[in-house]
Amino acid sequence: MKVGLLALQGAIGPHADALRELGAVPVEVRTPAQLADVDALIIPGGESTTISKLLDTSGLAQPLRDRLAAGLPTFGTCAGMIVLARTVLDGRADQNSYDAIDITVRRNAFGRQVDSFEADLAVDGLDAPLHAVFIRAPFVEQVGDGVDVLAAVDGHPVLCRQGAVLVSAFHPELTADRRLHELFLTLV
Ligand code: GLN
Repeated sequence: MKVGLLALQGAIGPHADALRELGAVPVEVRTPAQLADVDALIIPGGESTTISKLLDTSGLAQPLRDRLAAGLPTFGTCAGMIVLARTVLDGRADQNSYDAIDITVRRNAFGRQVDSFEADLAVDGLDAPLHAVFIRAPFVEQVGDGVDVLAAVDGHPVLCRQGAVLVSAFHPELTADRRLHELFLTLV
């Protein structure tokens, strides 16, 4: 299974390691031809405003919209969650989101860099808590009917799924726990 890693900005190395450990083949995606060749996609953390801009300049914006509309299984982490949301609050005026999951997210909702934190999350469907790293993280303010909330912090959803689209406000690639990447691969 070829899993694309959107490699315009942000750290993809740890995602690639997680995928390899689970027997999938990570493929860096920077061009429309590379996007056309993958079975699934991870949009990593980083800076969603920058990723949005680079999607436009790389020519990936429309091909990505088309593949998402056709049901491409996609995992968005942190900035990637923002990119995949229906609506973004506290975004930049020129920032695009791709409406792949029916959620409204607020950027930097937990505060600034100094407010980054770690937490043990109870995740729907997992037996034991998941240790999660939040870095300038967003949270979800509204979810549509088709969206399952799998985990929350102080009542704010931070892990959601709709069909084959999974989004986390935190960075699952930064711990050795592979259960979320594993869950994603079962959606592909
Ligand atoms: N705050 C960042 C953004 O708006 C996301 C941070 C992250 O991906 N760790 O994109």
